[in-house]
Amino acid sequence: MQWKGRRASTNVDDRRGVSGGGIAAGGGVIGVIIFLIYQFLGGGGSDMSQLPQVLPGGGAQQEMSAEEKAADDERAEFVKVVLADTEDVWGKLFSDMGQTYEAPRLVLFRDAVQSACGNASAAMGPFYCPGDKQVYIDLSFYQDMQTKLKAPGDFAMAYVVAHEIGHHIQKLNGTSDKMSRLRQTMSETEYNKYSVKLELQADFLAGVWANHAQQMKNILEAGDIDEALNAANAIGDDRLQKEAQGRVVPDAFTHGTSAQRMYWFKKGFTTGDVSQGDTFNAPDL
Ligand SMILES: [Zn+2]
Repeated sequence: MQWKGRRASTNVDDRRGVSGGGIAAGGGVIGVIIFLIYQFLGGGGSDMSQLPQVLPGGGAQQEMSAEEKAADDERAEFVKVVLADTEDVWGKLFSDMGQTYEAPRLVLFRDAVQSACGNASAAMGPFYCPGDKQVYIDLSFYQDMQTKLKAPGDFAMAYVVAHEIGHHIQKLNGTSDKMSRLRQTMSETEYNKYSVKLELQADFLAGVWANHAQQMKNILEAGDIDEALNAANAIGDDRLQKEAQGRVVPDAFTHGTSAQRMYWFKKGFTTGDVSQGDTFNAPDL
């Protein structure tokens, strides 16, 4: 992705230097997976087992080498540019519809953070919290994508950011509020179907963003869309579950299969048309 030398968003709250936000040891971390955290990774038990050890006092951060710090800072800069791209694209699309886009803030953190959706750890992956309209990203996720998920490339990370911004769009247009009302009325299995639709729509919106960012700024390099599709493939519920437990449990899907995630991102990218992303009424979902 072409990103150097372009505008970086100022809607970023860089809390990488701030330790844990007072998260206590043990059960405290595990007990706080709160209603309406839209984790990027599937919310299964596998993620929980990877929770980092947080020592009492929360002060157990590993020091980074100068090299690691430089790489981390470059990733932070990259995320700020992608965020600016989402502001420009969604600002234009909203204004085309006669509306004003209210840009979200993005919090960069390391290890653990507090949000209006509760405490969160890096192991949960990036997420959007509708309660405070903020995106939360621990940049170590970028490395996990390369090594654990085999989804390398800068555009894979751009897709992650654009997906979370997709959830912000769903907050602005009332979809996520509708979802939280629905959640009170149904069983978890039933609700998971809606969660999949919500997640796939966020993938679709990420694709719409990529389409317009390309039109407006010519950002794409060869292989970028494949990087995003590969990432969508890597983080499908079926694949994550299979890797974690050796089998696939469709009822526990909350984000969609690899094939579905790739399909909806691609549909957003090829059409660039927000009105074609009604995953809630898609006959095959
Ligand atoms: Zn999501």
